[in-house]
Parts: sequence; C-alpha cells; structure tokens
Amino acid sequence: MPSATPSINIEALLSGDRRTLAKAITLVESSRSDDRAQATRLVNNVLPHTGKSIRLGISGVPGVGKSTFIESFGLNLVEASRKLAVLAVDPSSPLAGGSILGDKTRMEDLSRHPDAFIRPSPSAGALGGVAQTTRETMLLCEAAGFDTIVVETVGVGQSEYDVAHMVDFFLVLMMPNAGDDLQGIKRGIMELVDALVINKADGDSISLAKQSRQHYRNAFHLLRPEDGWKPEVHCCSALNREGIVELWQMIERYFDWSNSLESGSRFKQKRSAQNLQWMKQLLHAAMDLQLKNNKSFTAERKRLEAQVLQGQITPLSAVESLLQKI
Ligand code: GDP
Repeated sequence: MPSATPSINIEALLSGDRRTLAKAITLVESSRSDDRAQATRLVNNVLPHTGKSIRLGISGVPGVGKSTFIESFGLNLVEASRKLAVLAVDPSSPLAGGSILGDKTRMEDLSRHPDAFIRPSPSAGALGGVAQTTRETMLLCEAAGFDTIVVETVGVGQSEYDVAHMVDFFLVLMMPNAGDDLQGIKRGIMELVDALVINKADGDSISLAKQSRQHYRNAFHLLRPEDGWKPEVHCCSALNREGIVELWQMIERYFDWSNSLESGSRFKQKRSAQNLQWMKQLLHAAMDLQLKNNKSFTAERKRLEAQVLQGQITPLSAVESLLQKI
C-alpha cells in the first residue's frame, strides 16, 4: 500500500501555507510505520525553524469557559499582529470522536481569522500519549510561522500533566468558588501551574470570584513558598473580554523573568529539560512498538501473562524470562 500521505513540500510549509501545514499534521498523526519514518524526517528538517514561539498551556474543567477564553484572548493577540495556533488536546478523542473539545462551533470568530489556526490534536498517537503528536504538531506550527501556540486541554486524566510539561507557561482556568477546598484542581497540578485565572468574574459572581482569588493566593503562599516564579492568580470575564489584556501582560512579565539571569535563565533550562523528557518518552514508546511488532516476543509474553494470571509464575520471573528474549 502506498503511504497515506503524499510527501510534504517543506518550502510551502515554511512559507506558512495552511494546506501544507494541515497535511503535515495529518502525517505526524499517522500511525503507519512508513508515515512515521517520513514524519520523523520532516520534523528533523524543520527543527532549525522552530522554538521561537511562546508556548502556552491552558486547562480547566468542561464548562469553565476555555473556548470562550481562548476566543477572547486569541482575538486580542491576532489583533495585536501575533500569529496564533490553537491545538486542542481532547482526552476523549480516541474513543468518542472528540466530544469534549471537538465541537465545531467553538471559537467561531477566531477560527475565521487569517492569523489563527485551530486544530484538534488526538490524545493518543502512534507513539503513545498526547506528548508525542502534539509536540510534533507544535513544532510544525512554529515552522509555519506561528509565534504563539496555545495547547488546550481538559482538566481530566493524564493529558493535563503532559501538556504542562510541553509548554513554557501553564495556565488553569477556574470557576468562582467560595469553598475552602481546592475545588477541581489536583494538588500535583497546583505545583505545575504558572497562573490560575478565575473566569466568569462578572455579574453576580464578581465578589465570589474575588474571594476565590484570595483563597488561591493564600494556597500558593503555602504550597509554593520558595519557587522563583510566584504563580499569579487573576480574575477575568472571557465573555465580556474583561481582564484579558492584563493576562497577556502577565505572560510577558513571565517571559522577561524567565529569560533573565535572575531566574537562572529558567526559560532555556525548562526547554532543555523538556527536550530530554521528550527523548525519554520517544525511546520508551519506540521500544514498546518494537516489542509489539516482534511476534515471538509477543507470543512468549502472552504465554507468561497467562501463567502469571494463574499464579504459576511470579511477575518477577516472567519479566526475567522475557528480558532474555530481547
Ligand atoms: P469550555 O467547555 O471550558 O470550553 O467552556 P465554554 O467556553 O464552552 O463555556 C461554557 C459556558 O460558560 C458557555 O455557556 C459560555 O457562554 C459561558 N461562559 C464562558 N465564559 C464566561 C464568562 O466569562 N462569564 C460568563 N458569565 N459566562 C461565561
């Protein structure tokens, strides 16, 4: 069978041609092994043209206002002559066809803007989870000239952690809430966020939103006392486009700080650490794939799994015996 995707014209990609970009993304999303080889060559070829964008992660529970927020925030950016790509990572997509984030009516004005590019990103690609495909897609968008990348995800499961580890700045949207507990946010995520934004701070919810803001500021004070960048907590109304400009100013502040000596050049450090993480994930996934494609290994593995299930052999001995097959 010929490759599912014709070869990609790199010049056209670098000049920002959208059809070529869309084709290139389809290629990196493909799980066919010949496509994978082509995708790897493509990503390697464009790498020198990547890395110059601002990479933002945005997360939050369904209904918190992510698409409304990205629409307002993104329109501000494109109006200020930035070029924005939004990659929506939907943890439901492999099973449910992207029901959480896949709605075509999301971000209607932004999606029509010539300087915006919106694309759902599958959460499970050829080589494992979100990290793989979305990272490659992000690089393709950078090569195509996008200077701001937003990776959107839902605050459910692993994808939130994956996204936090592939961006420069990670922002979580919250609802106004007076509760004492850290509603809807996992403690592990509190340690990864660079900003919490209380959305829907409008109408009757304004004072509640301000209470929440104080509550989260106190929480950060306790959770992240000595951590260089102090995560900021702000209120906004995505619907009324209020408090949005201030958030971009915060992000610029972060970039000034993270590129400064005072921060120990955090920006560079973080990107290098993410590259290393990327390599580890790739290696892991590639080894997994190799083993899966090795028929005699797979047969032996199944045989040993059955034995473990029946208590005939310990997991330790099963693994030891499998390792000898490699
Ligand atoms: P998502 O599921 O996180 O993408 O949330 P949506 O952007 O689809 O918003 C969910 C609902 O909240 C919609 O009815 C929006 O109109 C509403 N919404 C979003 N942002 C705001 C806001 O700032 N204020 C108010 N009052 N409603 C909002």
